[in-house]
Amino acid sequence: MNEKGILIILSGFAGSGKGTIIKELMKKYDNYALSVSATTRAPREGEVEGVHYFFKTEDEFKKMIEKGELLEYADYVGNYYGTPREYVKQQLAAGKDVILEIETEGALNIKREYPDAVLVFVMPPSVEEIHNRLKLRGTETDEVIEKRMKKAGAEITVVDRYDFLMINDVLSESVELFNSIVKGQHMAVSRNRDYINDKKKEFEEYLSRKKEN
Ligand code: 5GP
Repeated sequence: MNEKGILIILSGFAGSGKGTIIKELMKKYDNYALSVSATTRAPREGEVEGVHYFFKTEDEFKKMIEKGELLEYADYVGNYYGTPREYVKQQLAAGKDVILEIETEGALNIKREYPDAVLVFVMPPSVEEIHNRLKLRGTETDEVIEKRMKKAGAEITVVDRYDFLMINDVLSESVELFNSIVKGQHMAVSRNRDYINDKKKEFEEYLSRKKEN
């Protein structure tokens, strides 16, 4: 069957719990690789360089763009975020299913360039819950929370261009759902052309041997 990795994009509003889904998924399954993005946003408390993000100045980020080092990038609430190209390429070639946790603009750009990419959007059970989760996290000021809520309102308008929607209510169920989506994708006929062609050849050989006998 299909040995190539799948490029999966997970987007969702701030506070949708997508980060936690990925964390649990990576603990449980070893077929995934998570891309670490570059950003000009300041690190939050507890965030580690190279683990959560590669933290860059605006100049450094712009140099990465110029050198073509980013697969995609976008501006989100006043900061740049982008996906380093090389890691994704290497991991896909090694057969890993690569997850990009990115916002909608970057996601749709990727889909344009890589139609095989699978776009998953995760939502909390209610709009009120988005606000509550952001408040509870306590990492942003009220002003930034309001900006992120506004952004969420804009992002919902592009969800219908995604492939899958997940409502993140019970974490363990979301993890399993996400994994099933990816497993299902590996079985898509369009991703298994080489395997199907091999089987066709095997049949042809078998039938011609029969004829000879
Ligand atoms: P946060 O500041 O909360 O870590 O991330 C803000 C938003 O930027 C989230 O929606 C997150 O998914 C998105 N994001 C993180 N990395 C990237 C990236 O490399 N490219 C794009 N387009 N968005 C990203």
